Amino acid sequence: MRRKKPETQVQVTCAYCGSQTETFVTSYPDYLNFCRIHIPGKEPEKDCMTDYYEEKKNVQKKEEVKSIFSQKKEQLQEKEKVLTDRTTALRKLAELKQFLSNKNKKSL
Ligand SMILES: [Zn+2]
Repeated sequence: MRRKKPETQVQVTCAYCGSQTETFVTSYPDYLNFCRIHIPGKEPEKDCMTDYYEEKKNVQKKEEVKSIFSQKKEQLQEKEKVLTDRTTALRKLAELKQFLSNKNKKSL
């Protein structure tokens, strides 16, 4: 006796959380499937599409912040370099003074 296959509902893999779901939405123009549990008249219980695009937006923002941060870091490093140069210059000046005073002592 042949057993009838159980009727398979369309299942997709959520592009955001990776779970299999029968209640999903497809985004355009990306054609990505997201699970979405939404009872009409209520706040969506699960809305992976919104979460996904929010996260994407945030990532882009983070990238921007990162690039600004690295720019600032470069500026800071530049400053440090100047400071180091100044310290080196001051040390060399002190050495020179020492050298000159020693020379004066000798000549006296
Ligand atoms: Zn999901």
